[in-house]
Amino acid sequence: MIVYDAIIIGSGIAGLNAAAAFPADKKVLVICKENSWDCNTFYAQGGVAVATDEEDIAAHIEDTLAAGAGLCDPKAVEILVRDGMIEIDDLIARGMEFDKDEAGNILYTKEAAHSKNRIVHAGGDATGRELHHFLMAENRQQLLYRSTVTELLMDGRICHGVRLLNDGKCRNYYAKSVIIASGGIGSLYDFHTNARTIAGEVHGICLEKGIPLRDMEMTQFHPTVFIHSKGARKQLLTEALRGEGAHIIDDDGKRFVFEYDERGEMSPRSTVSKAIFDWKEKTGKAVYLSFPNFEEEAFRERFPTIYFNMKDMGFNLPREDVPISPAFHYAMGGIETDLNAKVVGCDNLYAVGECASVRVHGANRLASNSLLEGLVFSTRAVKDIIKRAVYFKFKEFDGECEILIKEGDAERKDELRKIMWNSVSIVREMCSLEKALGRIDSLLKEDIGKLLRLRLKVSKNIVQSAISRTESLGAHTIVEDTSQ
Ligand SMILES: Cc1cc2nc3c(=O)[nH]c(=O)nc-3n(C[C@H](O)[C@H](O)[C@H](O)COP(=O)(O)OP(=O)(O)OC[C@H]3O[C@@H](n4cnc5c(N)ncnc54)[C@H](O)[C@@H]3O)c2cc1C
Repeated sequence: MIVYDAIIIGSGIAGLNAAAAFPADKKVLVICKENSWDCNTFYAQGGVAVATDEEDIAAHIEDTLAAGAGLCDPKAVEILVRDGMIEIDDLIARGMEFDKDEAGNILYTKEAAHSKNRIVHAGGDATGRELHHFLMAENRQQLLYRSTVTELLMDGRICHGVRLLNDGKCRNYYAKSVIIASGGIGSLYDFHTNARTIAGEVHGICLEKGIPLRDMEMTQFHPTVFIHSKGARKQLLTEALRGEGAHIIDDDGKRFVFEYDERGEMSPRSTVSKAIFDWKEKTGKAVYLSFPNFEEEAFRERFPTIYFNMKDMGFNLPREDVPISPAFHYAMGGIETDLNAKVVGCDNLYAVGECASVRVHGANRLASNSLLEGLVFSTRAVKDIIKRAVYFKFKEFDGECEILIKEGDAERKDELRKIMWNSVSIVREMCSLEKALGRIDSLLKEDIGKLLRLRLKVSKNIVQSAISRTESLGAHTIVEDTSQ
């Protein structure tokens, strides 16, 4: 029986950077659901936010706290910003290439609610793909593909490993420490930007083990998504486009976001999403992203992924406007951790990246702070594991696997996605939240497989958190019931 030094659930930025942070003599297993690149990290476009120099630290902290609307932990934010500079320098020293100007200086772009240009990017608008390639090329640890973790092997405060489904078989894998880096919850929603592997099952396993989730009502909706693209994952049009001059207009060419906030397209994401949602409802007009200030060649060079993806879908950018709508994008809440990413109430279990809540994002994430979070807190987790060396006595668990999928689950899963999109998205009404909760409770009583049960439990937690927060804050907007 192998007992690994660490098991890492997830091969995104948080998981792979954690793997890289372990000393070479440690035996680490990285697990992912499908292929290693099938994760949100791979699809990240805009870049990584990082303070440009010592003088910018205070401003980056201030911008992050302002976006978080009072729900951030200032200590966590300070760590994010200060350690973030070290992480980016370290990545560059290890060989990661960010985009540079002709003189070899790193290029910084701007995104909404940042007070200055401080977003580094790679491959134009392919930052996530470049980072993922880099971390995969660097990885020396064992990777287990096409494996879905379905259980944490917990004994009191100690996690002994995971149970997973691989090649139709359930297997237990054991480790002295476990790091959850399983990403967010996109697939719970009908319209989302996330990779198809991102469904929040590990959040659900935590709930079943009594491990608390925090701030789950804080869900971010990206304002500029081409939702008519095929498949559940929709084409995102990065915020950097607006940072560099793209406009949001309606059928009449009106830049209506200025009616909601004087910063217009550069307002925080939640403001822009709510403005689009409200304008569509109020006027019945379609909304577009338009690119009046871009030359075609420069656009193709700076945003090649978007240029070619949209070309495949019949749009000639930057000449044509693209119809847009908000879609689910990011979970600010997650598995509650301390500042070293250790899961609250456990001794050797850690959570890093989008699955975690260390409260760097509060009620609303500042654009491009999430890749940074993945880097900073994965490194801290590994340092803590090495420093703490928790006493671990091997314990074997039975290998019994519950039925994961039952007949009718696919239809129920689709119904859940619609419930979450219709009742628990950009603008929430108490009576629809209550109705959503009622329906989720009845679905939970049906004869369903474990994977759906986990999704339902996470969704229930989101709805309950939304009901408990009776006043609007950050990304959570609750209004009077319009039906009354
Ligand atoms: C389209 C898009 C654009 C974005 N652009 C930016 C940007 O420009 N800047 C920025 O900072 N952020 C951006 N974000 C957000 C950012 O990409 C994510 O928050 C971040 O990449 C999350 O990294 P992660 O390592 O935590 O999770 P992910 O990269 O999502 O990786 C999760 C991993 O967990 C695995 N996993 C999940 N469940 C299980 C399970 N049950 N069993 C086994 N493995 C499992 C998956 O297979 C995957 O390997 C963007 C997100 C999207 C979707």
